[in-house]
Amino acid sequence: MHQDLREILITEEALQARVRALAAQVSLDYKGRCVTLVGVLKGCVLFLSDLLKRMEIETNVDFMMVTSYSGVQSTGVVRTILDLKQNIEGRDVLIVEDIVDSGLTMSYLLKNLSTRQPRSLEICTLLDKPSCRKTKVPIKYVGFGIPEKFVVGYGLDYNELYRNLPYIGVLKESAIAKGKKSCP
Ligand code: 5GP
Repeated sequence: MHQDLREILITEEALQARVRALAAQVSLDYKGRCVTLVGVLKGCVLFLSDLLKRMEIETNVDFMMVTSYSGVQSTGVVRTILDLKQNIEGRDVLIVEDIVDSGLTMSYLLKNLSTRQPRSLEICTLLDKPSCRKTKVPIKYVGFGIPEKFVVGYGLDYNELYRNLPYIGVLKESAIAKGKKSCP
């Protein structure tokens, strides 16, 4: 386990097994159709690539980047940093997110993407912290429900660190207090 972590919440094996099951479910639900996966950067990268590898239907991939976080704190104001390259009108769109916490990011994305008139619009999140919700969001696919803890790994960062960990872990308070940053 990484020295800055207090505990491993979800092991690499559990992640891989759950992602396989999610990919099978999505492939079944969208059978005979092409699904456009909209990855929410940067936290989605490992989850999306593992999910994509296991999908058994036609897929299309695009990305958005939005921001509302600074360190471990949400600012509450969501902004688009990078928009889709493709037109999603008439498409079956599945948003692929690392974690839904307050729900503000997802609510913003749903509103934003639905104005582009996709054929369908659903959410697939690896992690869900339902106890932190500030606004209701209809999530179709959830990897794991987790408690109110700040987690890192498998794409999720703290100041751009820890994304490369193959598991999901909880940071030590001391690591947060240090406010370490990557690549100075
Ligand atoms: P929300 O808008 O639902 O509060 O937060 C969504 C975004 O906040 C996620 O995409 C993620 O970037 C960030 N986030 C929320 N909780 C956590 C967490 O526990 N760990 C990390 N690394 N990011 C989080």
